[in-house]
Amino acid sequence: MFEKILIANRGEIALRIQRACRELGIKTVVVHSEADREAKYVKLADESVCIGPASSAQSYLNMPAIISAAEVTDAQAIHPGYGFLSENADFAERVEKSGFVFIGPRSESIRVMGDKVSAKQTMIKAGIPCVPGSEGALPDDPQEIIATARRIGFPVIIKAAGGGGGRGMRVVHTEASLLNAVTMTKTEAGAAFGNPEVYMEKFLENPRHIEIQVIADDHKNAIWLGERDCSMQRRHQKVIEEAPAPDIPRRLIDRIGERCADACKKIGYRGAGTFEFLYENGEFYFIEMNTRVQVEHPVTELITGVDIVQEQIRIAAGEKLSFRQRDIRLIGHAIECRINAEDPFTFIPSPGKITSWHAPGGPGMRVDTHVYAGYRVPPYYDSMIGKIISYAPTRDMAIRRMQVALTEMVVEGIQTNLALHRELMHDPSFIKGGTNIHYLEQKLAEMFPETEK
Ligand code: ADP
Repeated sequence: MFEKILIANRGEIALRIQRACRELGIKTVVVHSEADREAKYVKLADESVCIGPASSAQSYLNMPAIISAAEVTDAQAIHPGYGFLSENADFAERVEKSGFVFIGPRSESIRVMGDKVSAKQTMIKAGIPCVPGSEGALPDDPQEIIATARRIGFPVIIKAAGGGGGRGMRVVHTEASLLNAVTMTKTEAGAAFGNPEVYMEKFLENPRHIEIQVIADDHKNAIWLGERDCSMQRRHQKVIEEAPAPDIPRRLIDRIGERCADACKKIGYRGAGTFEFLYENGEFYFIEMNTRVQVEHPVTELITGVDIVQEQIRIAAGEKLSFRQRDIRLIGHAIECRINAEDPFTFIPSPGKITSWHAPGGPGMRVDTHVYAGYRVPPYYDSMIGKIISYAPTRDMAIRRMQVALTEMVVEGIQTNLALHRELMHDPSFIKGGTNIHYLEQKLAEMFPETEK
């Protein structure tokens, strides 16, 4: 096992990884930007290294600075968390070439899955059902593009091969607007992701977002840890996640979960990962694979009892998974609300000093956050400041527990989306379960006809 791990991330996930390390008896090095210098989680680490100014490009995305920090502190492995460099195959490769262990999949796996076109092709070969669409990237020939759309049937969605974070997608309803939409998505994709390739998929009108957590070691063991329902989204960004997914026949989920574990074996996957699917009319359609720990991993940890971050570390150290598929039982229900520092109506980020902070507690309540009263939310990064997760024997009880927790929670000094979560936890459709990926935007449009477009 490692003696010292460097954490190449910030915020709540940097603290989450630190906790996992400490429980395993591993020392931690946290790298941070000048803007995060005073954060308490930085001071909690055994060592910290300032790697650059506030801008992510010069700090959390600065590969040479992170690798030098590992060198000067004698860390043996690097945990990338989520976001930033976590799905950057070049980074994983550089880490390994510099003599450190990258806590994640092999760089080849990251590369294949990072390009959504090659990811889909790999999944089709591995027997995973995909959304009907173009065979690979779209060609330049307009006639071929039109023919592809006619074969798939409108509406279609044009997606960037290198896209991520809900960006680089365009829905097309008519043939008249098709070619223009393809050109625009290509231009945007080239500028945003450095890769102008786009592909086409059938646009599913009322799907749910269901994902399967997998984990695999280097000893040919690959298992799945149940599913998560992440359909409550705004602008393709998840707001609430839960596990298990309500109102889907168990045999359908078991079948797709087994296929994901099987696909991991076929593609020689190592580490934690997530197969994301859209689910509509009893069918699952693969959309992408995330080759890292997800923001929403706590809901899976609560219903399985598996510490996903500790497993990632053990796997990277060459150990075998500490459980088998038959040991995994999904017990109870967990719900996560992402707390963002943002205006509750306009969703514009609301950085600044938190003057008062009271987190909920009690049985079945987990709060993953790095903030506290007096903490200043910097304006440079993602607006998520923490996650509150309720766990109970049944879904109804988990909702009730979250309702109570949200009444207890106090954040002052900045604006947050707490009011939205309070509303959603009492929303009859959410309480019933099974809302689709458009539900939240439709609800917001009804609530704020003026501001929500
Ligand atoms: P990203 O990597 O940016 O998260 P994804 O491919 O995972 O992109 O898609 C993000 C979200 O976009 C999905 O959760 C879903 O809401 C929507 N989406 C993607 N593909 C389709 C599709 N074919 N039909 C309908 N919605 C889609």
